[in-house]
Amino acid sequence: MSSSLATVAYIGATILFILSLGGLSNQTTALRGNLYGMVGMTLAVLATVFGPQVTAAGLPWIIGAMVIGGGIGLYAARTVQMTQMPELVALMHSMVGLAAMLVGFATYIDPTASAGFEGAAKTIHELEIYIGIFIGAVTFAGSVIAFGKLSGRVSGNPVLLPGRHWLNLAGLLVVIYFGGVFMQAHDVQSGMLPVIVMTIVALLFGVHMVMAIGGADMPVVVSMLNSYSGWAAAATGFMLSNDLLIVVGALVGSSGAILSYIMCNAMNRSFISVIAGGFGTTSAPKPAAGGAAQPVGEVTPVTALETAELLREAKSVIIVPGYGMAVAQAQHTVFEITKFLREKGVNVRFGIHPVAGRMPGHMNVLLAEAKVPYDIVFEMDELNEDFPDTDVTMVIGANDIVNPSAQDDPSSPIAGMPVLEVWKAKTSIVMKRSMASGYAGVDNPLFYKDNNRMLFGDAKKMLDEVLTALRA
Ligand code: NDP
Repeated sequence: MSSSLATVAYIGATILFILSLGGLSNQTTALRGNLYGMVGMTLAVLATVFGPQVTAAGLPWIIGAMVIGGGIGLYAARTVQMTQMPELVALMHSMVGLAAMLVGFATYIDPTASAGFEGAAKTIHELEIYIGIFIGAVTFAGSVIAFGKLSGRVSGNPVLLPGRHWLNLAGLLVVIYFGGVFMQAHDVQSGMLPVIVMTIVALLFGVHMVMAIGGADMPVVVSMLNSYSGWAAAATGFMLSNDLLIVVGALVGSSGAILSYIMCNAMNRSFISVIAGGFGTTSAPKPAAGGAAQPVGEVTPVTALETAELLREAKSVIIVPGYGMAVAQAQHTVFEITKFLREKGVNVRFGIHPVAGRMPGHMNVLLAEAKVPYDIVFEMDELNEDFPDTDVTMVIGANDIVNPSAQDDPSSPIAGMPVLEVWKAKTSIVMKRSMASGYAGVDNPLFYKDNNRMLFGDAKKMLDEVLTALRA
């Protein structure tokens, strides 16, 4: 393929990627957005593999790697459970970081990759390698820890080392110092030591950054690492002089940054403190007698039959899904109940918290999979004021996102996080298996409120029973 044809293909792919991002911003156009992305990526891969930068000798290597990588990807995509999606995404981010790191080292070692760079161009090229490896290492290590936390292999509790900000600052100074040594190195041998030291510091920084983050703040980390993976890809593009990779990396990096900003707003965290790594704990004063205030009172359990009765008498119902709905795979039964109630004239709506589940948009994906109409699915802000006029709220496997202590208890780790005010409805019904806390590990006073009922059991099983009772 001639270089001008490859350039045209790259421009076409860039346009398709932009259209893809535009499509993904709305549920009704998301399918089209995905299609644009797939066509764009196929075009990009073909134009690169058969483009002017690849020699005939390199082709078997590339095709072999693509077959192995594609096979693993296909297997993972087919076998992964919906509940494992967040950790799979974290693992994918780590791969981008690892690729950036390896490409950085390969570019530095390969004499042909640096040939032709003189003076200022050589300085810029080496700077690209140094920064590319740094971003890649931070993304790789951070994403591996995020994978561990999301899959439960690593504790969700924040690990706060004494003087952690100073440690980060010291790490940064070491990276800058060795950056200077690296830039002054005359050959690859003398440049290797500083770049290896920097890589080790960057890996430790990535681990430290994510380990220090508490459960409730993980959504910000997930979206931030998404952004980092974009910048790592862009850095790889600079190292390989591949314009398309730079553009795509910048698109992912900036959309991830916007998502991080949205997540910060959703959790009422400051963007600046997130960037500085100073998040994960609350600065609010602790109560005098150790730990956040424990909720008190008695819980009122209900049966599936009583739940069906409450729903049958209701005129308006708001359903709030959370992580437990994903675990139980209850979305299809939820839709069946929704259909049944709507046919009886009940106004049924869904309230989605921005951090519900374990990844941005988690609940929207599940509801779309169950074919719940988009026009009854609302963001938290769109319907939080409607709870006082609602007869029944059904909380399905959600916990942190409906926790009133975020508003009432300044010592709570989730203090200040906006939540869905389900307790303001006439009756709220919480479906979960036990009194266990959610991801943030915080007790929930909602369970003890007078107008709250607890429907204990697996969400899918209990909802099946509710549906049977409704139809009876
Ligand atoms: P939570 O983790 O707060 O609560 C989920 C609840 O579901 C649990 O209390 C659990 O209770 C219940 N549950 C689990 N399995 C089942 C089942 N089979 N049937 C019924 N219930 C079940 O989830 P939320 O969605 O309310 O909140 C999300 C949390 O995750 C927030 O703290 C958020 O910060 C965090 N997070 C979000 C990310 C994102 O990007 N969205 C990323 C990382 C973290 P029990 O065991 O008693 O059944």
